[in-house]
Amino acid sequence: MATEPVYEVKAVQFSYGAQRVLDRISFALNPGAFHGIVGPNGCGKTTLLDIMIGVKRPQAGLVRYQGKDIFSIPKRAFAREVALVPQDYRINFAFTVEEVVFMGRHPYMGRFSPPTPEDRQVVERVMERLGIAALRNKFITQLSGGERQRVVFARALAQDTGVILLDEATSNMDIYHTVDCLSLVKRAVSNEGKTAVATFHDLNSAALFCDNLFFMKHGRIVVHGSIEEVFTEEVISRVFGVECLVMDVDFAAAKQVVFRAGGIME
Ligand code: ADP
Repeated sequence: MATEPVYEVKAVQFSYGAQRVLDRISFALNPGAFHGIVGPNGCGKTTLLDIMIGVKRPQAGLVRYQGKDIFSIPKRAFAREVALVPQDYRINFAFTVEEVVFMGRHPYMGRFSPPTPEDRQVVERVMERLGIAALRNKFITQLSGGERQRVVFARALAQDTGVILLDEATSNMDIYHTVDCLSLVKRAVSNEGKTAVATFHDLNSAALFCDNLFFMKHGRIVVHGSIEEVFTEEVISRVFGVECLVMDVDFAAAKQVVFRAGGIME
């Protein structure tokens, strides 16, 4: 039996003024998979995730979640289905770490009701799991970039959604926390049938954790397929303009890519 796509994006166009940023983007995402999006700076990755979470509206095209136009789904209900870990989370208010993680429970809480024991348990569990419980009373404005990313990641986990969108979510984390957080997402995908969509700068992290990969350039999808199919020297060189060598690495049980100094293609 064919699985229904969890997301369908059809002929999406988005421009900032006269600048076309997304050009006829179409794809369908199967559930229970980790989908990666890579591409040069400015190719439209963040804009695409913002459209998938509904904070930006495309000028043309459709975005469906489980068969429904996302803009027709009530916001609170949608927030129980899809969470976003944004690239650069900055707030001017001095919220504490614990308060930010509690924001993930807002879609479940009554407007003026205090958190339930379950809300508290979820918040406690994710803070412990991500090693930020000791930071609970610190202001988010006082954290390092990597610590702040773990807090925002925890907020998304507390939201307890079937789909998680990650925008360069580990870009400021050290390698321990990067491997830990992305492994956690990968396990949630393979063990609990969740769906993840993540943008990456680091191609090797994408190859290590994702099942499928999109390569974008100039607002278009250039190639989309399994890592086995699309993580090739030809595609990487064509999309990024660098010489590279792709290898099967036994230790990682994955394909990995290496570059060399001066290896820029004219
Ligand atoms: P990526 O995430 O792939 O680096 P983005 O989606 O952030 O790309 O940006 C795509 C393009 O849109 C870039 O050229 C960027 O400069 C432009 N852009 C992004 N945000 C805005 C904005 N708020 N106003 C105008 N242009 C923007």
